[in-house]
Amino acid sequence: MDCIFCKIIAGDIPSKKAYEDEFCYAFHDINPQTPVHILVVPKAHIASADGINAENSVYAAKIFEAIPKIAAEVGLNGGYRIISNCGEDACQTVKHLHFHIMGGRRLPENMG
Ligand code: AMP
Ligand code: ZN
Repeated sequence: MDCIFCKIIAGDIPSKKAYEDEFCYAFHDINPQTPVHILVVPKAHIASADGINAENSVYAAKIFEAIPKIAAEVGLNGGYRIISNCGEDACQTVKHLHFHIMGGRRLPENMG
């Protein structure tokens, strides 16, 4: 499958790893929009949050267990924002579910 995040998980495309376990992989965004900008992806190809269902929701659960560990590891003590762009209107560019962990400065209140 021609999916850039599947290739990153497989190690075929290099990435700056932040965290990894059986269910998910986290790496620094190549074009950071905040001082800390990490992406967490499931190790199964799920196209977006709209593709989460009863069969694969363990990946979402495990990602949300990993996020506090990742945030603590990179020192996001003041808080952070979790974003998942889902579909065209949200400007999702990579069609493999991912959660942006963004922080390292005070973020704007406006969410869109
Ligand atoms: P989205 O627009 O929500 O689909 O986010 C996709 C994100 O993936 C963007 O923030 C990109 O900067 C990021 N991205 C794309 N290619 C890479 C890559 N090879 N390594 C790290 N981040 C990437
Ligand atoms: Zn994929």
